[in-house]
Amino acid sequence: MARLGTWIEPFPEGIYVKPADAWVDPSKAVEQALVTHGHADHARGGHGAVWATPETRAIMDVRYGQQSANPVAYGETIRVGEVEVSFVPAGHVLGSAQIILDYRGERVVVSGDYKRRPDPTCAPFVVVPCDIFITEATFGLPVFRHPDTGAEIDRLLHRLDHEPGRCVLVGAYALGKAQRVIAELRARGHHEPIFYHGAMERLCRLYEELGVSLGELRPVAGAKKEELIGKIILCPPGALNDRWSRRLPDPVTAMASGWMRVRQRARQKNVELPLVISDHCDWDELTQTIRDVAPREVWITHGREDALKHWCMLHQIKARELNLVGYEEDEEE
Ligand SMILES: [Zn+2]
Ligand SMILES: [Zn+2]
Repeated sequence: MARLGTWIEPFPEGIYVKPADAWVDPSKAVEQALVTHGHADHARGGHGAVWATPETRAIMDVRYGQQSANPVAYGETIRVGEVEVSFVPAGHVLGSAQIILDYRGERVVVSGDYKRRPDPTCAPFVVVPCDIFITEATFGLPVFRHPDTGAEIDRLLHRLDHEPGRCVLVGAYALGKAQRVIAELRARGHHEPIFYHGAMERLCRLYEELGVSLGELRPVAGAKKEELIGKIILCPPGALNDRWSRRLPDPVTAMASGWMRVRQRARQKNVELPLVISDHCDWDELTQTIRDVAPREVWITHGREDALKHWCMLHQIKARELNLVGYEEDEEE
């Protein structure tokens, strides 16, 4: 049997699609780039032509200044070189896409980052059967099983209720996680104003402009200390323990990340209230997705490749590690 996917070349800097002369999520500047989503390790500035969903394009414009990427809506098919290219939802953050590549009867799906759980801020992951499924494995170990998101949000609200003289400061990645935490809080009936660190303002506003309602948000800058008592405040993870947080009224330090499943990580960051909320698949979601997609081969970009590769082999699916570099596994932090 002929080898599959000979037209796709993985390099440490990204996946090169030869007959399109284009790269998927390259970590270096290239002539032609297909971008799965707006996180900094996937979407970089400085490329020549870029194709991305309209939402990812808007996120890139906010982060890097005008990029004038070519917008490709979910479900639309374009031709790049000799390859038919389309984008379908990945369920990771607003605008995130799996990129479908069709060439000479073979179909390759590059999933980018993805998750299977419902997320009120983005379209759900779509299962696309294919020959080669290219997946991440950030949480690709059986110990990683993310709890129910609603239950984690309830723990946050419970803590807020039981510490009336304090505020709860939640560290959350500024693109995706922050807006998801806000939307999940609203869905659990929390309608108080939520305060944010200045670094989150533009992305929260963009989400709202793109139709994701987040309720009443207020900047911490300018708020009086008394106003913040009993409130939820969001900040980038890096601001949790820095000088900025000292002006807050006795914060309960929380963090929303899949890595909060690892106690040592929570301790290292002085997190009192670890919230296991992830925008990546846990082990069960990864393996279920491979069952659902039922590819002939699985190629694993980064993360805990070994265990997932082993699982694939046990299930008679050929698997291969690509060892791409530059995708930060700590993206969520
Ligand atoms: Zn991502
Ligand atoms: Zn990533």
